Amino acid sequence: MNEFDILYFAPGLPSHGEKARAAFADGALFVNGRRVEVALSDIGVTLGGFNHDQLFLFWHQEEGRYAISPTDANAQSQLIDTAPAPLSGLLQVARKDASSKQRRSRVGLGVLGLVLLLPLLAIGVLMWKSHDIAGWAAGYISLEHEQQLGALAFEQATAGMKLREGGVDAAAIREIGARLTKGSKYAYRWYVAEDPAVNAFAVPGGYVVVNTGLIQAADSAEEVAGVLAHEVQHIERRHTLKNIVHSLGLRAALSLALGDIGSGMLGDVATRLSELKFGRELESESDRLGLLALKQAGIAPQGMVSFFDKLRKQESAAPPALLSTHPASEERMQALQAMIAELGNWSSQPLPYDWNVVKAAGK
Ligand SMILES: [Zn+2]
Repeated sequence: MNEFDILYFAPGLPSHGEKARAAFADGALFVNGRRVEVALSDIGVTLGGFNHDQLFLFWHQEEGRYAISPTDANAQSQLIDTAPAPLSGLLQVARKDASSKQRRSRVGLGVLGLVLLLPLLAIGVLMWKSHDIAGWAAGYISLEHEQQLGALAFEQATAGMKLREGGVDAAAIREIGARLTKGSKYAYRWYVAEDPAVNAFAVPGGYVVVNTGLIQAADSAEEVAGVLAHEVQHIERRHTLKNIVHSLGLRAALSLALGDIGSGMLGDVATRLSELKFGRELESESDRLGLLALKQAGIAPQGMVSFFDKLRKQESAAPPALLSTHPASEERMQALQAMIAELGNWSSQPLPYDWNVVKAAGK
């Protein structure tokens, strides 16, 4: 049998498909050596993917829709060359169609197009199984593409902000941040934004922005470390990336269907990064992994709790921005204490900063 590599989509398999081998023999299609019980004349051919140049063979069985797609050009040629009639005729037409579309669409694809190629492939192809496409698509983005997307998002989200990497406070943030992200695959950049709002946020690819308002509101380096430890988990665990892909996916699917690719598409998502909310589950994950990062760095954990607790108890008509994205409920505070106890109340050295001095220098 002349087998070729495919992605196999079937009821019960992951929505992004599963690697498999396929072949044609005895006038039938075989997947992983097993005969597919469907007549070749009942198998449809369609083009999918970002450029409509990826080949899909699909059919229906009792359990639902099935499809296979060759994983690369080599597999695609093998599929086309070995497919018997009546599929071979359909495939020849599809191949011509694909190559002409490919030629047309190669023009004008920017970095964003590259970054979005895989997520949109998922959106285009898997519309009928749309659960958690964003999560899957974000998982599929390479580190390199994540960094390109992150750089774009950072640029747009911080447009108009007064950012700096220098100064006593920025140096302290960078040093504490480096301890918390030791061994990470991301090359972190730490920024201080001249902004009185008590807030901090993280951008995919390793950008962390801390407002001067947050630095001023903190009473110790440990409190700031608690916030940083939490925020970096939104990068490490790709929470923000998933959120961006999710927001982009729905909009972009439409505009890209019309051939409209532009960096403007990212704009209204990126500018809201500092207001991005994650669900309780992701917040809790960031709390837990953040505490673990503090433990590994030998930094006391109580700062994380005391900072959020302090913000919560401040009587104010307008709650701090950080609380709108990170609700400091009684429940969350108790959960934090329980996680700390669970992690074993580790020993720690006080961070070597007099925070009043750092605050005074940053004013
Ligand atoms: Zn968070």
